[in-house]
Amino acid sequence: MNAQDAADFDDHEMVRFHDLGAGARAIIAVHSTHRGPAVGGCRVWRYPVATQALSDALRLSRGMSYKNAMADLPFGGGKAVILPPPGPFERRMLFEAFGRAVNELGGRYITAEDVGSTVADMQIIATQTQHVGGLPRAVGRAGGDPSPWTALGVFLSIEAALRWRLGRPVEGAKVTVQGVGAVGQELCRLLVEAGATVTVGDIDAERAMIVARRVGAQVAEPHALHRLAADVFAPCALGAGLNEKTVDEIAAPIICGGANNQLSDAAVGEALSRRGKLYCPDYVVNAGGIIAVHGEAAGWTIGNVATAVSAIPQRLVEILIGADRLARPPEVIADAAARDRIGRGAGKIRADASSPVAGAR
Ligand code: NAD
Repeated sequence: MNAQDAADFDDHEMVRFHDLGAGARAIIAVHSTHRGPAVGGCRVWRYPVATQALSDALRLSRGMSYKNAMADLPFGGGKAVILPPPGPFERRMLFEAFGRAVNELGGRYITAEDVGSTVADMQIIATQTQHVGGLPRAVGRAGGDPSPWTALGVFLSIEAALRWRLGRPVEGAKVTVQGVGAVGQELCRLLVEAGATVTVGDIDAERAMIVARRVGAQVAEPHALHRLAADVFAPCALGAGLNEKTVDEIAAPIICGGANNQLSDAAVGEALSRRGKLYCPDYVVNAGGIIAVHGEAAGWTIGNVATAVSAIPQRLVEILIGADRLARPPEVIADAAARDRIGRGAGKIRADASSPVAGAR
């Protein structure tokens, strides 16, 4: 596999392949260190084909560059994917080997939790390197599992998007949540607490049932969730849920969720926009977790993290204002702003003069 030849290669500063022993492998991708060390979690996933793992590492690390830049953090963007061996494996050995691989990079890449990895795994990594976040926190201090902060940022963004697009509060709104792992289930709890009617779906049917029962939500078939009538569709599973197959089927006028890389490609974003759907750029709304990881490194209190996370919806609204003004999809506006902030800007975005709403606001 040659990273430079991959379709998702975007002048990444570094892509390394590691043999973790016992049949396990890892890819560490550093997209940009323009703003500081490349920070991004490590995903543990069984990819059907190895090229998908590379593609995920490349796309997710670029997303982290954008996310960290848009959240005003002094971080660049990186990501690791770990491919465990087929069958059962010894977690301690795997994460120790991964910790050594991170350490070899001397702080150019800092890791944390992502799909498939936990606080306990970060503690194992910390036995091999200091370049790890998401460790257990001291009372009142930032640290620990970043997922609840991610969920809070998404919840506040849903609130802002509902007000922006539909002029209504969360109370009484219908929200479908796809994927009820660490982020999705906390998001459901916040939504139900605020009076929303929530329907969940997860490929792990038992998990969906348990979460639904605990928070007071309904359950639907995970692959049909996006077709259900709702005010908001919140993708909180894996990436590329918004793709050429689903794009014409999404019923909700607002798409706002925690998953990374929700759009399979730029054309899907354009198509959503043409259909009048409001897509809230994933890396803008799901930055709560990385803000918490930064707070941990900077010695912040929980109150400092809460203040920083509560700035996310305002950032979203600024992007939506820009999108309306130039009649371009929100992610085009966000990408341009993010690329500017990492020193890869390509100049001003032009308004879509053919659109009747260009310059309307
Ligand atoms: P998780 O592994 O805890 O949960 C993911 C859930 O999605 C699991 O329950 C899984 O069964 C389900 N799932 C997978 N594919 C599905 C599908 N096709 N349909 C329905 N359900 C499906 O992961 P998480 O930490 O909750 O992260 C969820 C998403 O949010 C990921 O894309 C992750 O990269 C992103 N994210 C997470 C954080 C964080 O703080 N954890 C921060 C930013 C972004």
